[in-house]
Amino acid sequence: MDLVRETPNHFSLPRRISRLSELAYNLWWVWNPGAQRLFIQIDRTLWEKVYHNPVAFLRKVERPSLNAATNDRYFLELYDQVMRDFDRYMSAEDTWYSRNYPSKPNQLIAYFSFEFGLHESLPVYAGGLGVLSGDHLKEASDMGLPLVGMGFYYTQGYFSQRITEDGWQETRNLELKFDDLPVTLLNRSDGTPLMVSVTLAGRKVFARILQVQVGRVPLYLLDTDVDANNPADRMLTARLYSSDHEVRISQEMLLGIGGVRALHELGYQPTVWHMNEGHSAFLTVQRMREMVMAGMSFEEAMDRVRKTNIFTTHTPVPAGNDEFALWLIDKYLSHIWEDLKIDRERFVDLGRNMQEWGETFSMPVLALRLSGKANAVSELHGKVSRAMWHKLWPDRKVEDVPIGHITNGVHASTWMARRLQILFDRYLGADWRENIDDPDMWTMIDNIPDAELWAVRRHLKNKLVSYAIERARSQWVGGGFHPVQVVAGGVLLEPYSLTLGFARRFATYKRANLIMRDLDRFIRIVTNETRPVQVIFAGKAHPADEPGKMLIQQVYRAVKDSRSGGRLVFLEDYDMNLARLLVQGVDVWVNTPRRPNEASGTSGMKAAMNGTLNFSVLDGWWREGYNGNNGWAIGSDVDYSDADQQDAADAQSLYETLENEIIPLYYNNRSSDGIPHSWIERIKESIRTLVPQFSTRRMLKEYMSQAYLPAMDASESLLQAATNPAKTKEG
Ligand SMILES: *Cc1c(COP(=O)(O)O)cnc(C)c1O
Repeated sequence: MDLVRETPNHFSLPRRISRLSELAYNLWWVWNPGAQRLFIQIDRTLWEKVYHNPVAFLRKVERPSLNAATNDRYFLELYDQVMRDFDRYMSAEDTWYSRNYPSKPNQLIAYFSFEFGLHESLPVYAGGLGVLSGDHLKEASDMGLPLVGMGFYYTQGYFSQRITEDGWQETRNLELKFDDLPVTLLNRSDGTPLMVSVTLAGRKVFARILQVQVGRVPLYLLDTDVDANNPADRMLTARLYSSDHEVRISQEMLLGIGGVRALHELGYQPTVWHMNEGHSAFLTVQRMREMVMAGMSFEEAMDRVRKTNIFTTHTPVPAGNDEFALWLIDKYLSHIWEDLKIDRERFVDLGRNMQEWGETFSMPVLALRLSGKANAVSELHGKVSRAMWHKLWPDRKVEDVPIGHITNGVHASTWMARRLQILFDRYLGADWRENIDDPDMWTMIDNIPDAELWAVRRHLKNKLVSYAIERARSQWVGGGFHPVQVVAGGVLLEPYSLTLGFARRFATYKRANLIMRDLDRFIRIVTNETRPVQVIFAGKAHPADEPGKMLIQQVYRAVKDSRSGGRLVFLEDYDMNLARLLVQGVDVWVNTPRRPNEASGTSGMKAAMNGTLNFSVLDGWWREGYNGNNGWAIGSDVDYSDADQQDAADAQSLYETLENEIIPLYYNNRSSDGIPHSWIERIKESIRTLVPQFSTRRMLKEYMSQAYLPAMDASESLLQAATNPAKTKEG
């Protein structure tokens, strides 16, 4: 392939440690704490200042700090060790995939997603969907799956959040600095950037292709900010989740159509195509279009594409299921049905969705109609999705609607605290990560002495509390903050009280205000003199979601209320960094969605693997995870038709369990050294039962056996039929 990855050469590093630049440009360091230690040891203050970004770090680090590191024997030992691990990882021929599928070396899975959350220093994600995509790539890399990712380089990232003194969310757009990010530009051998183009309402719009290396897996990001485009089109990939439908359809055409073209330009011929959510579903159309233009009939192209496409649906909430007015389809896609040699009606049929107000073109419908395998992301979500899309298969029974489920998981090495990993290395054996999805291995959790586990838990809570205090302090010193905001930012937190965390997108169905439905009772619980409780809130509302922003305001009002004694806190700007600190540092992770709207949820899984206990509605993953002893349930396993009735029942259940079970278990029956053995017993039960089940290792094994493998087989038979048509006809 005549392609050149433009490797930036803007660091001047001492030769002895020059390979730090390789580490900086491979996100492998994100889930390898040893690699992070290297940067921390060189200059901890700078590491914090550049927000844990190795590229920016190496651009800014002072020469004396580097020289000191090269003269430090311990540093060099760690450096050599990390580089050996890195080399071994990158060159390994013996992987889970190669061991289990030795007969499938020539396969390639293309994984498309609107967002990828890999690390806080690369903010091209908004929330759960992106973090899941990021974890999917990391685990695919660990397992040696032949996979490449395709997404967008959002030049303005997702917004950063400030909360005004009266609780109103303000947003600021970021401006990503290309030179400070672990992205490389792909050029042709003549030095010009590799480009793809897509026709959008008659205009040709260009995108360049950037590469991010995620361990062994390459991720390609499209970026329209190039000279060849007009100013509006240059901004097309600037932001995530625009509410403007023309921007949305343009972005989705760019991802679906441009993404397929980009992979071909890069020399790839994927055999399996995975659409993570419906945003990328136009890839089905582009694939068919290429086949029809090469001479195949539309029917045959459709059959082929379907056999090798996989679709994962992520939400039953209407706002998450994109659909477009038919006039937009006419405006943007009419040239495509011409290429497909079908008429408008036939094309619209592919995504036709009948709503009460009329017909639309639905991206999930398109994806469902053109995928051989479709899955929801938890068992309950599977059931909800089958009912939701039953209308596409009216002659089948609901339970026979072809949407299964593969429950989400999280990538342990990314989300588990380093200290806890060290403890597991000691008590579970060095290869616990390789066997993370094996429930039997986790029985060894009982070998960990309570005192050691508790010491790590205390350390993690201390770390979270000092983080909040230091952040509030620096905001206060920086000026422009009202004292109320400093209190709301957590300066009155302390590390001894039972601490609850609630952090997620502020959408109304997630009911951040459920816990304060009876505000007086809530404040009594929080300010109890002998058994106080702290609650830390965090989360962004979509800028166009007014009810979501009002929810933040309502929570903020309680946070500001002096009666709560500074024990309620709202931490601004929820992102992967804050998520990590919270899921690791609080004692209890609360989730209160209105059933059955939470398709899966993943933050509770991150909490569980850190010894934080879940206290949640039996929705999404928790309905599968909860066993009566590994956390607590809010409400029961039923759906109410009346929302207010459901809210009242759930709030009642929440208060009772908190007062009668959670608080006493945390504070009572401590041994003389202050260790709450019954609490720790529950932590161990939680880790033992939840970590294996909700790991990305388990998740990707299921994707492999249920989705990727059948598609790979189908792709092989199609290829055989194509190269040897006579033989297949005979036999
Ligand atoms: C894990 C994560 C999410 C998803 O959490 P939910 O449980 O689905 O709410 C969202 N945002 C960030 C920053 C995360 O790390």
